[in-house]
Amino acid sequence: MTEHPALVAIDGPVASGKTVVGRALAARLGWALFDTGIMYRALTWLALERSVSLDDTVALTELANAAEVRVIPSDDPSSPDVQIEIDGLNATEHLRKPHVEAAVSTVAAVAELRRRLVQLQSEAAAKGRLVVVGRDIGTVVLPDAPVKIFLTASPEVRALRRSMQAGHATDNDHEQVLQATRRRDEHDRNREASPLVPANDAITLDTSELTLDEAIEAAFTIVERALPSAAAAH
Ligand code: C5P
Repeated sequence: MTEHPALVAIDGPVASGKTVVGRALAARLGWALFDTGIMYRALTWLALERSVSLDDTVALTELANAAEVRVIPSDDPSSPDVQIEIDGLNATEHLRKPHVEAAVSTVAAVAELRRRLVQLQSEAAAKGRLVVVGRDIGTVVLPDAPVKIFLTASPEVRALRRSMQAGHATDNDHEQVLQATRRRDEHDRNREASPLVPANDAITLDTSELTLDEAIEAAFTIVERALPSAAAAH
C-alpha cells in the first residue's frame, strides 16, 4: 500500500473557519497547524514598516526574496500553531492589525513574490504531520496532499462570524465587515496568480448551516476516510 504524506490541505475564503477548524484537526491528530496566511501578513507588515509602495511589484518581490522568513514549528500540542519570524522579528502581534489586513490581498496578488513564499511553504511542509491552511494549498503548494478540504460559507455568515469575533454590535459595523470580506474575497478569487479555487480533488465543506463543532466533526470525518491510520492514532 502507498504511504500517504501526513498532510491535510485546507483552502477557503476569508473567515470560512479554516484556521479554527484546522487547529482543532491538528490538535486531534497530534500534528501542528501551519496557517500560510501569516506569511503573507508578515511580509505585508514588513512592506508597510519599510514604506514599500504596494503598487511597486518589483520592490515587493525584492523584499520577499531578501527577507529572512523563519517558520517556527510548534512542539506544544495544546497550542499547535506555527509562529513566524521575519528578518529576525517575531511579527505575530502585528499580523491582525487593520492596516495589514487591508493591504494583504494586494501584496498576495504579486506572482513573483508568491513563488518565494510557496517554496518556503513546501519546504516547511516536507516533514509532514501538518494541517496546512491557505488559499492555494491544494492547488499549488501541496498538490499531492492526500486530503484536501475546501471550506466555505455564505459571505453573510462569514461576515457575521467576523463581526462577533471582533465584538461589533451595530448594523453599520457589520455592514463594513461584510464589505471588507467581499472585497478581499474578490481580490483573492480574481487575481491571476494562484486564484482562490477549489482543487479538482478537494472536498467542499459548506459550514453556513453548521455549528463550529459540527464543522470540525465533518472535517474530521473527511480526514478519517482518507487517512484512517492517522485519525485512529488519536
Ligand atoms: O487566511 P488569511 O486571512 O490570514 O490570509 C490573508 C491573505 O493572504 C488572504 O486574503 C490572501 O490574500 C493571502 N493568502 C494567499 N495564499 C495563501 C494564504 C493567504 O494568497 N496560501
